[in-house]
Amino acid sequence: MERLRTQRIRKEVAQALPRGPRCPSCLRVSLPLLLTLTLTNAACSKKTSPAASATPAPATSDATGTRGEPQTYPSDSGPLPQIDSKRAFQYIKDIVAFGPRPLGTENHKKLENYITSHLTGDQVEDDAFTAETPEGKFPVRNIIAKYPGSKDDIIVIIGHYDTVYPLRKQGFVGANDGGSSTAILLEYANQLRGKKRDGYSVWLVWSDGEEAMKQWTETDSLYGTRHLAEKWDKDGTLKKIKALFVMDMIADADLNIIRDTNSAPWLLDLVRAAAERSGVQSHFYSLEGAIEDDHMPFVKRGVPCVDLIDLEYGYNNLYWHSPQDAVDKLSPRSLEIVGNTTLEAIRMVDKR
Ligand SMILES: [Zn+2]
Repeated sequence: MERLRTQRIRKEVAQALPRGPRCPSCLRVSLPLLLTLTLTNAACSKKTSPAASATPAPATSDATGTRGEPQTYPSDSGPLPQIDSKRAFQYIKDIVAFGPRPLGTENHKKLENYITSHLTGDQVEDDAFTAETPEGKFPVRNIIAKYPGSKDDIIVIIGHYDTVYPLRKQGFVGANDGGSSTAILLEYANQLRGKKRDGYSVWLVWSDGEEAMKQWTETDSLYGTRHLAEKWDKDGTLKKIKALFVMDMIADADLNIIRDTNSAPWLLDLVRAAAERSGVQSHFYSLEGAIEDDHMPFVKRGVPCVDLIDLEYGYNNLYWHSPQDAVDKLSPRSLEIVGNTTLEAIRMVDKR
């Protein structure tokens, strides 16, 4: 019975995945091999490998990546972090009001200015370049804000701000996909600003060009983070990164953060432990799968990464990359759950 039940749930996950003409870009999910036939789709042509399941995720994984005894963390009597979720939600509304924000558009430029205008007085750097894409050359700009800590080394938090180029004329405003990641990072900046951290420095990266310009491939996706990872590899920054978090689609009112098997097991466990401290762990890891997102260029270079993403956005994931990705599907409470958990998680990384 258990096996049957599991397979049925797996199928639902499979059906939740993108299909048809609206699936070309953004992150990519790998699926169980047994389901590949149901997913075969010329427009999508996603490669699959055994990975995803809707079975309950394992309780823990040890630091070596094998599943074992639960890892314990030192108790922390300090107050739990608390973001201003109303303020963060207002950021999403402001961002969506610009309209579609793909590379090379006036709305994209407006959003760049919106982000930097909220970082006045902070240490802000650009990683700007021209990307060769299947749609031609486009300017790409990662915006990086740095908040110093007392310890050497760095924790990085990345969230993309571009929206899907192929959907630019179809009313796609990416409230969750692009909007929520931009907004939560702006709120992290509010929380980090004006005080030296008792821990690692935190660098926030509003990444650009996460979405594919035509159809997701190794070279048509992750333009910003592929460039940044290469740059940080050359200048030695990567060696200093203790942990890298990615935020993507984290404001769905029905919040269900997937357990991404491309992420570092110890960081997945640490995030779960952070969620448990606020009693919000039921929103984490009931689904499992291998996600390709902005962390991948860093994963490939050995950086410990975790991707926090909810890819069960509406029944059968129907709101993903659709005009239905609008503010009415989102909740400030979801921003609060992910935001507080992430801030608690980085505090736990400080203490490792
Ligand atoms: Zn997307």
